Amino acid sequence: MKGRIQIDKERCKGCCLCVDVCPKECIHLSEGLNLKGYFVATFVADDTCTGCGNCAVMCPDVAITVSIADAAAGRRSAATVAADAPEIAAAVTADSHQATAAVAAKVTCP
Ligand code: SF4
Ligand code: SF4
Repeated sequence: MKGRIQIDKERCKGCCLCVDVCPKECIHLSEGLNLKGYFVATFVADDTCTGCGNCAVMCPDVAITVSIADAAAGRRSAATVAADAPEIAAAVTADSHQATAAVAAKVTCP
């Protein structure tokens, strides 16, 4: 299963939540600015993206769209998300703002 993401740079505020939550290190903060003056996240298209959707779930500004090459795989199930990142999945279920806070606490991106 190969995934790709698209980042709407004008929605991005460079918070790095997506950078930190990506298990494949497919997302980096670029040196490019958007119209609001934020450094924006950029996708490194090197076939390592699995389409897991973590980045899209975590983005507080709904700036990320995920597509998966293997259509048969479809969307990642909630059970799979919970198995891989139970603390994040639980927080998303309880409150999306809690989830953002949970990941924000782990952010290492400058
Ligand atoms: S989580 Fe969203 S707003 Fe934050 S850097 Fe990533 S794309 Fe931009
Ligand atoms: S879909 Fe998953 S692997 Fe792909 S960029 Fe987003 S978090 Fe990383």
